[in-house]
Amino acid sequence: MMNRPYTETAAVEDIKPICKICRNCELETARFSNSIEHDGKRIEVHELECWLCLECGAQPIFDDQRKRNDERFARARAALL
Ligand SMILES: [Zn+2]
Repeated sequence: MMNRPYTETAAVEDIKPICKICRNCELETARFSNSIEHDGKRIEVHELECWLCLECGAQPIFDDQRKRNDERFARARAALL
């Protein structure tokens, strides 16, 4: 279950990529929450990173973000032990 992402209010200095879907809009960094099942328990993981296109609603996740998201999931699982 993926919650709707919200855009970050903090200023980002990085160059923003252009949306690959509509090719019309710069992507904004966004955060979202997701939950995973682990040993029958549901863990909520917050502050996951993705990009969000305000034009077409695409939510691509780039490799560097996916890596950091995976670390957040790993930390959430470790916190259960
Ligand atoms: Zn788009």
